[in-house]
Amino acid sequence: MHLATSSVFIATIFMQVELFQNSDAPLFGTRANALDQLAKFLPRAGRDYQNNRNFDLGQADHSFVSRLSPYIRHRILSEDELISTVLRSHSRSAAFKFIQEIFWRTYWKGWLEHRPAVWETFITEVETETKAVQAVPVRRRIFEQAITGTTEIAIFNSWVDELKETGYLHNHARMWFASIWIFTLRLPWQLGADFFYNHLLDGDPASNTLGWRWVAGLQTAGKTYLATESNIRKNAAQRLKGIPDSGRGLEKLATHTFEIQDSLTVEEKAPSSSQFAELSSVNIKEHDAVLVTTEDLSTRWLDNANKPVAIFDKTDERSSETKRKFQQEAIEDVKHRIAETSSADLENIRVLHSAHEISSWVEEHGVKDLHSSYIPTGEVRSSLAELPTMLESLGHSFYEHLNDYDRTVWPHCRKGFFQLGKSIDSLIDTLGLDGQRITR
Ligand SMILES: Cc1cc2nc3c(=O)[nH]c(=O)nc-3n(C[C@H](O)[C@H](O)[C@H](O)COP(=O)(O)OP(=O)(O)OC[C@H]3O[C@@H](n4cnc5c(N)ncnc54)[C@H](O)[C@@H]3O)c2cc1C
Repeated sequence: MHLATSSVFIATIFMQVELFQNSDAPLFGTRANALDQLAKFLPRAGRDYQNNRNFDLGQADHSFVSRLSPYIRHRILSEDELISTVLRSHSRSAAFKFIQEIFWRTYWKGWLEHRPAVWETFITEVETETKAVQAVPVRRRIFEQAITGTTEIAIFNSWVDELKETGYLHNHARMWFASIWIFTLRLPWQLGADFFYNHLLDGDPASNTLGWRWVAGLQTAGKTYLATESNIRKNAAQRLKGIPDSGRGLEKLATHTFEIQDSLTVEEKAPSSSQFAELSSVNIKEHDAVLVTTEDLSTRWLDNANKPVAIFDKTDERSSETKRKFQQEAIEDVKHRIAETSSADLENIRVLHSAHEISSWVEEHGVKDLHSSYIPTGEVRSSLAELPTMLESLGHSFYEHLNDYDRTVWPHCRKGFFQLGKSIDSLIDTLGLDGQRITR
């Protein structure tokens, strides 16, 4: 081999080894870490992803998938930025599967946006189902075993351990986990979704609630998801090798699903006629201020805005330590990014924890109106439900701004994913994401 060729070859090997070794480095809630993770994954976002994404290799190795979800969830990386970056390295056909998964996320967000009652009902049902399970000793014991990872199913326990330790689970593991929870352990799906939500760094009101509803057969009429021993043995073979007594309990998995009653009425599930197009295009004026929330930690529309900025931090006491740590890192990081991009002084960027604190801050700073990126259905929106009227009573307006990506894609999310799937190509064209650089 020629010397130059051999050094390129050795460098490539080193790069691949580094890629592999870094595939499971801990995730920090910073944009720098997100970009690093993306750069490492990018070479695999094409056919590699399409062919291998279904394999759950175990906690030490998630190199076939991106692990970008915690960053996308908080818009530390935005969907449009991600798609356009991937399309600079891969053709549309090679990256199709990866892009389709990003659109799955957008689909769930848009679907829930048309039916906020699904989220509100889920929240109340977590309470009622918790009481119901606690009231029956046998069910309480099964529930305790499930959340402490001490069931008779060894691989289920290993997912519980990984989730608690890292705040991440592979997509296929999430599907198997939810199916075993519902159809083998016969626990209410709402409590499984709540357990996921409190531990996942990417815990999302739409993807999580609707992912669980999909497994339970509540999203697509008559279509449940059954985790089978053969499918797990095939797609989690590598993980099973690392688990002592790995096959334990696999023979106990349910062999059929059953119908679960949806407590939501047809009207509650019917798409509302939300007019996304009408969401504010009002300009930020002099004496206005900006509110950043953990729903959107991008700074793209803050660029060069010389405005007072506050950050709303809704830290849920029920979140795991790992999840809280990630969120605190993300808030600290966005403070620095805001200070860099917008001439706001770091020490003047306040972190606030309630609608009341926000309205006091607006008054103290002589602010006219307050602007935020659109806050989708979920706990942040619920926590700030009173903010618009609170501000209005003091003579201020609260404007939410929907970004072009959501405004363009959400109207396609009223029905099944198939409808949206057919439009992905034309949406990429409309949004100019193929080869175009998104400016931040
Ligand atoms: C029961 C259940 C609960 C889930 N809960 C969440 C959640 O709370 N938050 C969340 O972001 N995703 C959730 N998902 C979807 C999916 O499992 C994760 O997005 C994915 O595993 C994240 O890992 P990754 O970034 O390595 O994914 P990759 O395979 O690298 O995919 C890239 C991105 O595409 C999106 N994506 C991929 N698969 C899906 C999918 N099936 N649905 C929606 N978006 C997808 C994510 O943003 C992901 O980061 C859930 C799925 C199920 C079945």
